[in-house]
Amino acid sequence: MSGVREQLERVRQRIAAAAQASGRAASEVRLLAVSKTKPSAAIREAYAEGQRDFGENYLQELVRKAEELSDLSDIRWHMIGHLQTNKAKLAVRHSSLVHTVDSPRVAEALGRRRGDWISESSGLPAHLATPLAVLVEVNIAGEAQKSGCAPDEVGELLAAVQREPWLDLRGLMTVPPFTDEPEIARKCFEALRALRDANGGRERLPELSMGMSDDLEAAIAAGATIVRVGTAIFGARAAKTAEPS
Ligand SMILES: *Cc1c(COP(=O)(O)O)cnc(C)c1O
Repeated sequence: MSGVREQLERVRQRIAAAAQASGRAASEVRLLAVSKTKPSAAIREAYAEGQRDFGENYLQELVRKAEELSDLSDIRWHMIGHLQTNKAKLAVRHSSLVHTVDSPRVAEALGRRRGDWISESSGLPAHLATPLAVLVEVNIAGEAQKSGCAPDEVGELLAAVQREPWLDLRGLMTVPPFTDEPEIARKCFEALRALRDANGGRERLPELSMGMSDDLEAAIAAGATIVRVGTAIFGARAAKTAEPS
């Protein structure tokens, strides 16, 4: 008994309560279940409870699980880890939303690969022959080792994404510094929202991907439309290992 079902239910209740507390509808907040390192069986359990959006950090792992779970035809895979341009070809085939566009180079690679893939695959159903939905990742606290563009580069990067006919700009994403100080995360979420408002607002950037297991309430209060939750649904993960390149 893994408890995925109960834990998923608890997370849904937290989201509903947080939305209500900030005068928002729970339906405005999409739960992304972060399944990295977890087996496909755990994903099936969450799927059986109605969960459809799943997030992975490593592209090889995302592709392997997408193949293992290809019978779940309406499942949606989100790429939430750092993306290398040499993996763009894989990313564009398997992701319903890429959260981590952090440079014009990545935007160009994704746009070009998406276009190539669509023109090469003649039998593709019309609903798949569409621009790839992406978010721009912002390193909101300016941490040295972190991926994401600097806040003052956002305008330029958004423009680079919008120059790509095969990309569909959907919004912004951030990962706040790892700390047990909730005030820091809250400030980061508010800063991302302010950045969205300064760069075209909801019209241009409808999605804000922010908030994880420990701080989803603060993210929802600040306007999150996607919360990315792993541990609170699937339990603790083993220590992280590097992706083979
Ligand atoms: C792992 C991860 C999450 C989920 O974190 P939890 O604390 O387990 O909920 C969310 N976003 C990103 C980018 C991650 O890498």
